[in-house]
Amino acid sequence: MSKAKIAVNGYGTIGKRVADAVQAQDDMEIIGVAKTRPNYEAAVAAQLGYDIYTLADRVESFEKAGIPAAGTLDDMVEKADLVVDCTPGGVGESNKAVYEKAGVKAIWQGGEDHELTGFSFNAVSNYEGALGLDFVRVVSCNTTGLCRVIYPIDREFGVKKARITLVRRSADPNDAKKGPINAIVPNPIKLPSHHGPDVKSVLPNINISTMAMKIPTTLMHLHTINLELEKDCTAEDVKEVLGTQSRVRFVGQGITSTAEIIEVARDLKRPRNDMWENCVWDESITIDDGELYFFQAIHQESDVVPENVDAIRAMMELESDGAKSIAKTNKAIGL
Ligand code: NAD
Repeated sequence: MSKAKIAVNGYGTIGKRVADAVQAQDDMEIIGVAKTRPNYEAAVAAQLGYDIYTLADRVESFEKAGIPAAGTLDDMVEKADLVVDCTPGGVGESNKAVYEKAGVKAIWQGGEDHELTGFSFNAVSNYEGALGLDFVRVVSCNTTGLCRVIYPIDREFGVKKARITLVRRSADPNDAKKGPINAIVPNPIKLPSHHGPDVKSVLPNINISTMAMKIPTTLMHLHTINLELEKDCTAEDVKEVLGTQSRVRFVGQGITSTAEIIEVARDLKRPRNDMWENCVWDESITIDDGELYFFQAIHQESDVVPENVDAIRAMMELESDGAKSIAKTNKAIGL
């Protein structure tokens, strides 16, 4: 069977990782990546063997920079079965008309609103709902991390109320413009934050309130999770349920911070130090007065990457069973 032809529009933090993860699968392939500027990332993409496309008025600037473009964005979209739009939040929306005109399927990231596609995706929570769809949004890194734990716990014990605090990295490691900050910034100050409604875009029945702050770090986010449950259970019961989730990794053995988690990713020789799984401190899993508490760390640059691969597989109907797609994606990228 021929491989699904996938294009990536926006080759930044998320786009470059999605391109490599797609290329590692045996049922899909990258036919091109689109960049707006002929910068170092474009040069590396060319070195990695990706065909580079750009906007019609930028072709010359790529030529001048010694990174010849294979064509325009429209050319790339024409050749693809599905485009993964990884342009900055809010920019992706304006590309919808391009994809519609070419009759290609498209995935957007968490920086866009749910309404853009009408379907917000998280593999473990709603894979089957994306089967055959033309337009899907893969939710943000934080929402992905929350859905991955709330969905299985709700299915097993029922979540009466979720109260979450998100301690967020202020910028990605390569983002010299935004960080590091030297402050703790309640963000947003108006409560509750938008993260709860975003979880509800995937899991509409979950009663959830969230608040968030930015802190001076670039490595990962940290979530404090408090879930009021319908059924009585023990911490061991919760560990058993989370232990069945391939994209949840228990951390302990002297790991006391996000710094050591990234060191584990380095030691595992993960590409770009990526930690695709939620990192849950199993020692923190506690039932107190009938409520569940724990800490988890989320690698913002990479946790959505396997989710994009699964979303492609569902939309292209390459696999109808979500669990099988998750296992296939994980194996191919080395998770
Ligand atoms: P980024 O800024 O790292 O990369 C965006 C890329 O798009 C860059 O290569 C940029 O040059 C390019 N670009 C800019 N304008 C463009 C245009 N008009 N057309 C085509 N390309 C254009 O951004 P990112 O962090 O990868 O974020 C992409 C999306 O993923 C956003 O929706 C964001 O909210 C979401 N997301 C980001 C993270 C994260 O932590 N970085 C995590 C999960 C989801």
